Amino acid sequence: MSHRRETQDQGFATRAIHEGYEPLDEQGALTPPVHLTSTFAFESVEQGAARFAGEAPGHFYSRISNPTVEILEKRMASLEGGEAGLATASGMGAITALMWSLLRPGDELITDNTLYGCTHAFFYHGLAEFGIHVRPVDLSDPAKLEAVISDKTRLVYFETPANPTMRLVDIEAISEIAHRHGVQVAVDNTYATPAITRPIERGADFVVHSATKFLGGHGDLVAGILVGSEADMLKVRLTGLKDFTGAVMSPFTAFLVMRGIKTLEIRMARQSASALEVARWLEKHPKIKRVYYPGLESFSQYQLARRQMNDFGGVMAFDLTGGLEAARQFMNHLTLICRAVSLGDAETLIQHPASMTHSVLTPEERAEHGVSDDLVRLSVGLETVDDILDDLSKALDNLKEA
Ligand code: PLP
Repeated sequence: MSHRRETQDQGFATRAIHEGYEPLDEQGALTPPVHLTSTFAFESVEQGAARFAGEAPGHFYSRISNPTVEILEKRMASLEGGEAGLATASGMGAITALMWSLLRPGDELITDNTLYGCTHAFFYHGLAEFGIHVRPVDLSDPAKLEAVISDKTRLVYFETPANPTMRLVDIEAISEIAHRHGVQVAVDNTYATPAITRPIERGADFVVHSATKFLGGHGDLVAGILVGSEADMLKVRLTGLKDFTGAVMSPFTAFLVMRGIKTLEIRMARQSASALEVARWLEKHPKIKRVYYPGLESFSQYQLARRQMNDFGGVMAFDLTGGLEAARQFMNHLTLICRAVSLGDAETLIQHPASMTHSVLTPEERAEHGVSDDLVRLSVGLETVDDILDDLSKALDNLKEA
C-alpha cells in the first residue's frame, strides 16, 4: 500500500519538495532512491507482455520510464499545473522529441521571431528539411498570428521571455486564437519557470524546459522537461522519446534536478529581487544605452509582464553606448561575474549572444530576430547583490582607460 499523500491542493513550495514521493514507501528514506538500472525484471512472461502492451502498470526499460525519473515528472506536472510530465536528456531533447512526435511533412509550425539559437537551428535548418513549413511571426502582436494561421498550421511555439531579447508573448491571447483554429500551443518556460509563469494555466497545451537552467539551478547538469496532457505525453514518450530521439534523462540527473527544484521558489524570488536592483542600476548608468528587463517600467511590455508574471526573473539583456567594442572590453574587465553561456545558476553569468548562443543564426537572421551585435545577456545569480554591482561598476569605470 502506498503511503503517498495527495498534495495538489498544497502550496507551490510544498509540492516542489514532496510531490510524487512518500518516504515510508521506501524504508523511510527521506530522499528518493536513485534507481540506476537499465532494465526491470518481470515475474512472468505474461507480466512482461502486459507491460509492453500498456495493459499492466510497471517499468520495463529505462529508455521508456524509470522510478526516479517518474517522481521528477510528477513533480514538474504538478508545479506547471499540467496532467503529466516527461523528462529528457536536455532542453533540446525535449523540443526535438515533441516536434518529431507532433509534426508530419506538409504541416506548418508557427514560431515567434525570437528563439534560442539552437531551437532556431533545429526548426529552420532541421525540421524545414523534412517537409515541415516553419514560419516566423511576431507573436508579441497576436493579430499577426490571426492573419497567417491556416488549416495547415499544427502548432504555435514561442518563448516568453524570449532568449535573448526578453520579449514577451501574451500566452492567453495566442492560445485563444490558436485553439479557435484547432491548433495546439507550446511555450518554452525556461526563463520564467513555473514559480513565475504557468503557461498551461493560461491556455497553453505544452510547456518545454531547459532544466539545465533555473530548475537544476546549480550549473551541474544538462536536462529537459516537457509537461502536457496524459495522452500527449504518452504519445511523445512512446514515439518522439523512445523511438525517434532516445534523449532520455538519467536517473542520477533526475535526482539532481529534484534537489534543485526543492529551492526553486526561494531562488527565483532572490534572483528576481537582485536582477531588478541590477537592472535599475544599469539603466541609470551613462555608459549603458538600454536595458531589457520585464520588471523595468521602461520595458515596452511592462504591463503584460505584470499581468502574466508573478515576478520578473533573473535574466536581462542590455547594450552599451560604445557598441560592440565597448561590450567586449567591459565583459573582459569583469572579475566576479563569469563569462559563460547558460543561465539560472547560483553564479552570475554574462555572455554575448551574437558570437555565442545565437552564433548559429546568420547575421541577417540575427538582425531579423532583434539580436543586435551590441547585446549582452546577464543572468543574475545568488551572490550578494552589492558584490555584483561592484563588479559591474568597476568594469564600466575601466572602460575610460581602454
Ligand atoms: N530553451 C531555451 C530558452 C534555452 O535558453 C536553451 C539553452 O540555452 C534551450 C532551450 C536548450 O536547452 P539545453 O541546453 O538544456 O538543451
